[in-house]
Amino acid sequence: MMHEYDIAVIGGGPAGLAAAIEAKKNGADEVLIIDRDIELGGILQQCVHNGFGLHIFQEELTGPEYAERFINELKDLGIDYKLDTMVLGITEDRIVSTVSSSDGLVSIKAKAIVMSMGCRERSRGAINIPGSRPSGIFTAGTAQRFVNKEGYMVGRKVVILGSGDIGMIMARRLILEGAQVQVVAEVLPYPGGLIRNIVQCLDDYDIPLLLSHTIVDIKGKDRIEGVTIAEVDEKRKPVKGTEQYYECDTLLLSVGLIPENELSKGFGVKIDPVTGGPVVNESMETTVEGVFACGNVVHVHDLVDNVTEESRKAGRNAARFIKDKTSVYGHVINTKPGKGIRYIVPQIIRENNVEHSIDLYMRVDRIFKNEKLVVRIGETVIKKINKAYMRPGEMEHINITAEDLKAGDHSLLTVDVE
Ligand SMILES: Cc1cc2nc3c(=O)[nH]c(=O)nc-3n(C[C@H](O)[C@H](O)[C@H](O)COP(=O)(O)OP(=O)(O)OC[C@H]3O[C@@H](n4cnc5c(N)ncnc54)[C@H](O)[C@@H]3O)c2cc1C
Repeated sequence: MMHEYDIAVIGGGPAGLAAAIEAKKNGADEVLIIDRDIELGGILQQCVHNGFGLHIFQEELTGPEYAERFINELKDLGIDYKLDTMVLGITEDRIVSTVSSSDGLVSIKAKAIVMSMGCRERSRGAINIPGSRPSGIFTAGTAQRFVNKEGYMVGRKVVILGSGDIGMIMARRLILEGAQVQVVAEVLPYPGGLIRNIVQCLDDYDIPLLLSHTIVDIKGKDRIEGVTIAEVDEKRKPVKGTEQYYECDTLLLSVGLIPENELSKGFGVKIDPVTGGPVVNESMETTVEGVFACGNVVHVHDLVDNVTEESRKAGRNAARFIKDKTSVYGHVINTKPGKGIRYIVPQIIRENNVEHSIDLYMRVDRIFKNEKLVVRIGETVIKKINKAYMRPGEMEHINITAEDLKAGDHSLLTVDVE
């Protein structure tokens, strides 16, 4: 069976919702969202804490409240969605194969596709912690789903490895549910997540954060009984003699997120080795024509508001694409991370498609104090921004006007920390 749509959006989290709404508002008639979950909203449905929407709505909403605003708009606009439906594959000529228990195998032909599959958590296997393999070890997001959605408490005496935002948010959540959170250990010399989460989730609850520390052993046969934590040197090697044993019945891992790109790799989308997401241009289009991407599948965002803005752009441009309004001609500029910068999104800018300005998103590779972000096209400096403080855990953002882009007659834009 083959269904036809103008735009198929894969993933109904905040990225997919914003992209679908914007595509519809910009003239795409038949828009369909496909999600493997049983409800729309993606990861937001398990994030019952507040802190969402400060920029977009100037309000502090919970995750489900933020999602609800978009779901209501989606329904008002009459956008179709299929839930409990897994996308198995995409082809270069934009055929999407799906499977669900109600409809079986269904193929969808779309004039444009928006990929918004989010990301998944790095697990124990990916970080090789030595020791036995008892129960009681969860990724922080899985624990969050159990506690906030399924109504199961994961444990009573908890240790957390990694200071990503989800781990810190779960530290606070478990304390509020009556657990004891012993310690958060972070292998890097700086915290992984947002400063506001360190203050509101750890400091406010007197949870110690051990930087430059990692777990060197896990004890327990059936259920975890404790972990040994040691300090690490600059090469992240445990320092002998610094080991400390912590009793616990639960270990949460908050050690990074990986953009969910098995589908993208299956049909030849070029992947940026640093972000782990598709290489995209100014329109959020991937290297496969007519296939767009946005949200955590492109690069891991810390704020949902940025996901929404980026995804609106993807949806708007997918609608432009099906009406042949995108220019594939003209000057092309590639972006390249310079000194102190890990990555820049987008990686490609086609000048003709930048109407007023373009937002560049990036992360620094270590902590910087009182430095500048310097943007150059070729050798010409087009922007300098003073920064009191920059950390890898907080995404940086620079707005470049269409006028600025014309300043240097060159095809390389670099950003350096100087
Ligand atoms: C624990 C946690 C706490 C956070 N706290 C905050 C906060 O306080 N403030 C803030 O602004 N931001 C916060 N964020 C960040 C924000 O929630 C995310 O950046 C945002 O949810 C990413 O949106 P997304 O749509 O890209 O991905 P997701 O929300 O992950 O959605 C992806 C969707 O794609 C679907 N999908 C994937 N693969 C397939 C497939 N093959 N077939 C069908 N469907 C598929 C999934 O089921 C999912 O519904 C938090 C994130 C997490 C994880």
